[in-house]
Amino acid sequence: MGVLVFLLRIALCGSEAQKQKYLPSLAKFKTVACWGLTEPDYGSDASALRATATKVEGGWVLEGQKRWIGNSTFADVLIIFARNTTTNQINGFIVKKNAPGLTATKIENKIGLRIVQNGDILLNKVFVPDEERLPSVNSFQDTNKFLAVSRVMVAWQPIGLCMGVYDMCHRYLKERKQFGAPLAAFQINQEKLVRMLGNVQAIVLIGWCLCKLYEAGKMTPGHASMGKSWITLRARETVALGRELLGGNGILSDFLVAKAFGDLEPIYTFEGTYDINALVTGREVTGIASFRPAASTQRSCL
Ligand SMILES: Cc1cc2nc3c(=O)[nH]c(=O)nc-3n(C[C@H](O)[C@H](O)[C@H](O)COP(=O)(O)OP(=O)(O)OC[C@H]3O[C@@H](n4cnc5c(N)ncnc54)[C@H](O)[C@@H]3O)c2cc1C
Repeated sequence: MGVLVFLLRIALCGSEAQKQKYLPSLAKFKTVACWGLTEPDYGSDASALRATATKVEGGWVLEGQKRWIGNSTFADVLIIFARNTTTNQINGFIVKKNAPGLTATKIENKIGLRIVQNGDILLNKVFVPDEERLPSVNSFQDTNKFLAVSRVMVAWQPIGLCMGVYDMCHRYLKERKQFGAPLAAFQINQEKLVRMLGNVQAIVLIGWCLCKLYEAGKMTPGHASMGKSWITLRARETVALGRELLGGNGILSDFLVAKAFGDLEPIYTFEGTYDINALVTGREVTGIASFRPAASTQRSCL
C-alpha cells in the first residue's frame, strides 16, 4: 500500500524528472517506497506537524520525527512532509534510504496488518537536494488532495477482506454441524450471513461509485472520506460477524477470518480514522469544521 501511495504522490505532484526517475521502477515494485506524514504527537491533527525543512544552499535540511510509517524500515525512498521554516507551509521531500541522519525503527507488537512493517522515523539534519522536493506540495491543502485519492485506494482493502470472509463463512456454515444439523440451518446464523452479504454488496457499490466519480473528475474530499469511513464501519461489522460465526475457530489465526478481523482494526484507523473521515464529510455537507474545540483556531485535519 505504501508503495502505491508513494507512486500516486509522485504521479500527482512530482516534477517530470521525478516521474521519469521513480515511476517505472515503482510500477514494477523494484523500488520500495513509503510516505511519512504522521508524527508521534500529530496524528489526526496532521496539519500541525512539527518536522521542519530549512532551505540551505543546493537543498533542504529536514529535522523531526515521523510515526507509523508503513515500509519505512526498508524503503528505498521515503516521501517526508515537513514544515518549510520560511513559509510555515507543508512541503514534500523525497529522501533516500541511506541518507545520513535518517533512522527508521520497527514498531513491534501490532495486532493487525502484520505483513507490513510500520516504523518510527528520526530525521536528524537530513540533507535533501533541491531536485528532490515535490514541486506541487506547497500547503497542507495540497497534501489533502492526495489523501482523498489514497482514501479511495484504502477503501478497497476492506472490500476484498469482507468478500473473502463472507465466502469462508458461507462454506463453514454448510460444512460444520451442531445439534445434528449444519450451522447454516439455524435462523440466527442465516441472518448474520445475510447481513454480511448485504454489507459486502453495499461496500462494493460505494467503492465502485467512488471510482466512477474519480474517473469523471467529480470526486470531492467529502465523497472519498465518506466512502473510506462508511466502508470500514460496515467492514468492521462484517468481519466481527464472520469471527463469531466460526465459534472458537474464529479466534484462531489458522482460519483467515481471525486475520481479517485483526487487519480491519488498523484499516479503520489509518488514512484518517473513521471519526476524522466522517468529520471531513461533515464539514463538506454543513460548511462547518468541527475538528477543533470551538475556542481554538480551526485547521484542516488528516
Ligand atoms: C497500521 C497503520 C499504518 C499507518 N501507516 C501510515 C503511513 O504509512 N504514513 C503515515 O503518515 N501515517 C500512517 N499511519 C498513521 C495514521 O494515519 C494515524 O494513526 C491516524 O491518522 C490516527 O492518528 P493517531 O494514531 O495519532 O490517533 P489520534 O489522532 O491520537 O486519535 C485518537 C482517537 O481520537 C479520535 N479523534 C482525534 N481527533 C478527533 C477530533 N477532532 N474529533 C473527534 N475524534 C477525534 C480519533 O478518531 C481516534 O479515535 C498509520 C497508522 C496505522 C495504525
